[in-house]
Amino acid sequence: MHTLLRGGRVIDPGAGLDGLSDVLISDGRIAAVGPGLETPPGAEIVDVTGLVVGPGFVDVHSHVHSIAGHRMQAMDGVTTALDLEAGVMPIEKGYADAAKAGRPLNYGFSASWGGARAQVLLGAKPDANVGSSLAMLGNEAWRRSSSPAELTAWLSLLESEIAAGALGIGVLLGYAPMTDPGEFLAVAQLAAKAGVPTYTHVRELAEVDPSTPVDGSEEIARAAGETGAAMHHCHVNSTSGRHVDRVLGTLDRAQRLGSRVTVEAYPYGAGSTAIGAAFIAPERLRMKGLGPSNIIVVETGERVADEKRLLQLRQEDPSAPCLMEFLDESREADLEMLRRTLAFPDSIVGSDAMPLFWPDGSFESTEWPLPPGGSTHPRAAGTFSKTLRLMVRETGVWTWLEAFRRCSYLPARLLDDCAPGARAKGHLGVGADADVVVLDPERISDAATYRDPLRPSIGVRHLFVGGTAVVRQGELQTNALPGRALRGEAR
Ligand SMILES: [Zn+2]
Repeated sequence: MHTLLRGGRVIDPGAGLDGLSDVLISDGRIAAVGPGLETPPGAEIVDVTGLVVGPGFVDVHSHVHSIAGHRMQAMDGVTTALDLEAGVMPIEKGYADAAKAGRPLNYGFSASWGGARAQVLLGAKPDANVGSSLAMLGNEAWRRSSSPAELTAWLSLLESEIAAGALGIGVLLGYAPMTDPGEFLAVAQLAAKAGVPTYTHVRELAEVDPSTPVDGSEEIARAAGETGAAMHHCHVNSTSGRHVDRVLGTLDRAQRLGSRVTVEAYPYGAGSTAIGAAFIAPERLRMKGLGPSNIIVVETGERVADEKRLLQLRQEDPSAPCLMEFLDESREADLEMLRRTLAFPDSIVGSDAMPLFWPDGSFESTEWPLPPGGSTHPRAAGTFSKTLRLMVRETGVWTWLEAFRRCSYLPARLLDDCAPGARAKGHLGVGADADVVVLDPERISDAATYRDPLRPSIGVRHLFVGGTAVVRQGELQTNALPGRALRGEAR
């Protein structure tokens, strides 16, 4: 099986290449890259003149565990979608469920700190289901600190999940923001010992909540420095809000001191979470300079009128998805803040794609186009295209080479040490996995909005996952489920 992509502008961040070239895909791998390649007998030839060809985007922060969600992300240029911030538990079931249902994109999961704590502190039986993990975030009892025995118990659960192939440890610390900092340090120590990264939704910043046990960004910088663990700071845009310059300064200092801290951002001024989450409480919103009117219920579009209504919604259905506006994208100063966050050196693009859901309560659909009435945060559909629009097309802040470095190359490198399969991703070297996106550099753009979040992005012309076309001539291929598991090294 050979496919020859002929005459495109080929971008390979692995080799620093940006030039007119052909790309030959054979048996799911990159076989050759160069101008005027010979056509092997029987090869399918795809004319990609005028288009940009590069390694597909590696999304290290995707909570979509569905065919429907993967298809939205495919139209956005993603070829590998990993849930590393939340993770799943048990990891074996997460991988087995995905393999059984089939996935358009490559997938993978971290060990779930939240799931391990829930099992020990609440006696919850983990089921590797994103719906039940959302529900758990609103549970007060799960948010308390662990006793020494409990800590030992859940650390050992995490250790077995890593041994079973988890891609590091996902830590939703910001959802249990008053827990003993010693717990987080113990997680960092475990990660350093096991040689795997952590991916953290940090706890509150000192500027926002002076009663926080420790500043969220200082904590990750310090833990990385003290333990030597590779520690990834998730969505620095949403957890920092208008304090992002200070936070980036903290992380920059840690990096200069040799700490293995990495950063990720998405290009939206509103976040999304369960309405029962700790940081959506009225008093916490006030600390951030926000109010109930900055919270919107995703399913109904209701903008929350006042604190009384917010408390009611939190009590009625704590797992209901909501939006939280932390910046105002219609203000140039706020938009510039978002761009600065993305532009931070080596900051990578991660979508934080949220599950898609429909009014009948389902989280999945194999129909395409997707059935009407579905909801999610628009970042699930548009993060990568919107970033390319903001950072390359409209401002030229990034070259195409830099864009592919941020969207494909650097995210895959986070996993090199713990998952040997990652080394064949994020670049177009000979032998690399043929996860390839072909896009129209003049048209690439997001289309999803907060009101209409399931509109697929525009401008991805072709998308190959392991050499199989998931998008062809701009059309999603509904029979294509070539996604494979990316797993941690067996230990
Ligand atoms: Zn998060």
